[in-house]
Amino acid sequence: MTASKTVAFSRNSTNLFFHILTRCNLKCRHCYINTEQHGKNTLPLSTIIAWLQAFSANSRSTNLIFLGGEPTLHPDLPVAVRHARRLGFASITIDTNGYLFGDILSKVDPVQVNYFSFSLDGATPETNDAIRGPGAFDACLSGIRNANAMGFATSMIYTVSSANIHELALMEPLLAELGVRRFFIQVIGLRGKSADQHSVSGGKEQLQVSRNQWLQTIPPVARQIARHGITVTFPKVYLNAEEKFECAGLVAKNFFIFPNGRVYRCPLCEDFPIHSLVFDNNKLAPAGRLNESDFFKLNIAEGCVMNKLIQPHNLIYCKDGTPEYKIACCLLKEEICV
Ligand code: SF4
Ligand code: SF4
Repeated sequence: MTASKTVAFSRNSTNLFFHILTRCNLKCRHCYINTEQHGKNTLPLSTIIAWLQAFSANSRSTNLIFLGGEPTLHPDLPVAVRHARRLGFASITIDTNGYLFGDILSKVDPVQVNYFSFSLDGATPETNDAIRGPGAFDACLSGIRNANAMGFATSMIYTVSSANIHELALMEPLLAELGVRRFFIQVIGLRGKSADQHSVSGGKEQLQVSRNQWLQTIPPVARQIARHGITVTFPKVYLNAEEKFECAGLVAKNFFIFPNGRVYRCPLCEDFPIHSLVFDNNKLAPAGRLNESDFFKLNIAEGCVMNKLIQPHNLIYCKDGTPEYKIACCLLKEEICV
């Protein structure tokens, strides 16, 4: 039996998205890394350890995700993983573009790393490499095969845009063949390079898909893929009038840490200097006001405040001026598993 459910924000667990550097070997078209806002530095191991320590009081209920840039470019990633394990984090994931630098698979083991999570944005080299760069498709597939062969659990992230939505259905046989356990479908957001490339008035590329395209494509393909025993997760995006809107910034514990010390609670805020927390001398402290936490409290008919501010063309209004639907928090997910 296939079960589909909206995953409520967990009040009891924390997710720590730790960008240990912003450097990367690729230049993906939709990369959300914005070095002006996130820094260009590679965190020294001592800083990584100090910042992990700052979140370690609730480590047993905290899921830690190492990200970049490309985190495997960090020479101290294996030591950081071992340290995080000693601190007792509930799970450790390494997000990667598949190049797996520094012979990482032989320097950590499946007891230390719960998941290697690979980013792929097309079911063919033509589509994926047009987005992520030449050779990225082959590197990713070979990284997944090598990780699986060494006993690691693997997951995959596919960021849906107008450039690759047509290949999402083709991911079904590929994922089944690769033996990936979890498949995360993301919606392209107007952050980082996507924001630069986007123009509602035309001229530049429109990367975001329409509501109809999203609703007609994503849930059915997700159900197809889940038939293979793969857990599929995708953002809810649209809420109808009866569905309750909640802002994760108020009710959940997600922290997005960047190498310049900024700590955000909301991914949609990451292009702006409105982080709510900051590492100051390795101590986590509240950032100056106004910041994102002031926006989270605003209660509007359209749902997510940040969506209305930075991507209002997602919204449609009825003749009486009320929104036709609400935009859910970008962190609210639908999960399908068998
Ligand atoms: S692999 Fe990730 S960090 Fe690197 S360019 Fe692509 S999206 Fe950005
Ligand atoms: S995406 Fe919107 S609803 Fe979610 S945390 Fe950010 S501001 Fe809140």
